[in-house]
Amino acid sequence: MSRLVMKFGGTSVADLDRIRNVARHVKREYDAGHEVAVVVSAMSGKTNELVAWCKDASPLYDHREYDAVVASGEQVTAGLLAIALQNIGIPARSWLGWQVPIRTTDAHGAARIEDIDGTAIIDAFGRDREVAVIAGFQGIHAATNRISTLGRGGSDTSAVAMAAALKADRCDIYTDVDGVYTTDPRVVPKAKRLDKIAFEEMLELASLGAKVLQVRSVELAMVHKVRTFVRSSFDDPENPRPGTLICEEEDIVEQPVVTGIAFSRDEAQITLRNLKDAPGIAAAIFVPLAEHNINVDMIIQVISGDQKTTDMTFTTTIADFDRACVVLEGLKEQIGFAYLEGSTDVVKVSAIGVGMRSHAGVAARAFKALSEKGINIRAITTSEIKFSVLIEAAYTELAVRTLHTLYGLDKA
Ligand code: ADP
Ligand code: ASP
Ligand code: MG
Repeated sequence: MSRLVMKFGGTSVADLDRIRNVARHVKREYDAGHEVAVVVSAMSGKTNELVAWCKDASPLYDHREYDAVVASGEQVTAGLLAIALQNIGIPARSWLGWQVPIRTTDAHGAARIEDIDGTAIIDAFGRDREVAVIAGFQGIHAATNRISTLGRGGSDTSAVAMAAALKADRCDIYTDVDGVYTTDPRVVPKAKRLDKIAFEEMLELASLGAKVLQVRSVELAMVHKVRTFVRSSFDDPENPRPGTLICEEEDIVEQPVVTGIAFSRDEAQITLRNLKDAPGIAAAIFVPLAEHNINVDMIIQVISGDQKTTDMTFTTTIADFDRACVVLEGLKEQIGFAYLEGSTDVVKVSAIGVGMRSHAGVAARAFKALSEKGINIRAITTSEIKFSVLIEAAYTELAVRTLHTLYGLDKA
């Protein structure tokens, strides 16, 4: 007998038929004799609707009430799946975050799990192996007794954290694709499914835009050594394929130089023109941004020819863009720049692979291939196992496909 966590995303629980289909996947594992905890997302589109209602009610909404609202989507699917399971003869009950409890920080809208007490669920396994159907995405901030949510895509993190807390043998993340691909298969039909991907690569893919797993879930799987698979809920519930295993680098025999391509549209570019070229300028710009909790990613400063003025370009998320512009315009005299240019019409395309550690010139090949397609690169960053380029958004698909082909990732 094993103990399993099975997570089903929004498309997998989009309506009652799909929820019944999920119940069949759970039945398969239950009938095989396993103890099963299921984590569910809200029906697809539901969380977006709830978020929009909060913003409509007040642009400066109270984040604690936002969490009370957006957590409700998962309450519905948890209850419905428990009913669907009971209906096919499987003992089951729903668990909300506070009932488990899943304790989090008070960073409402982006809370982090601090601790999960799995005792009550494990006790329930002892009664006829009762299936625990847990509402994903939510927890409780104990000191204030308030509902919290874990940030968009957070049910993945609920699932992996639950698996760690229950000491589960594996965590299966069921979604609408049959595994992790070399890039988003909806954008590049030639993308290949990977049997295995290293934790570090999955971390980079997720943080650079591949939304198949929330970044935090990969971090938790890596730290707590949770055996995690990504697989399809649309497979035959009687005979599903295994999907993609997220594993240690050493467990992958053949390692290509580039494993995957990711892209993020959540980028904005800011350029400050005619800055004084003097010590302390970078601090004058980035310290106030940091004080306003604005994260900056790519940074390019041009060394001036005349030693007098220079330009500084950097990126933020789209959500931070307006605030960053306001903060900087307010400090225009103090920082000493002539004018600010901003653009949200940009995308960051990244190539990832642990094989880059041992190969030189990987990024250079991309710069050449992109230039041959007439794609202008606005900013570049590199690190040990990835590089990213910032380009005009209109070229996203062309750039992703170009790099996918360049590094030999297209399926035959
Ligand atoms: P869920 O609702 O099940 O959590 P998500 O929509 O959050 O599902 O994530 C699954 C989606 O991630 C897929 O439909 C796919 O379009 C997208 N995706 C992006 N990059 C990749 C990738 N490299 N491999 C697989 N899917 C990817
Ligand atoms: N329902 C939440 C969202 O849409 C959490 C999740 O699906 O993982 O972001
Ligand atoms: Mg998701």
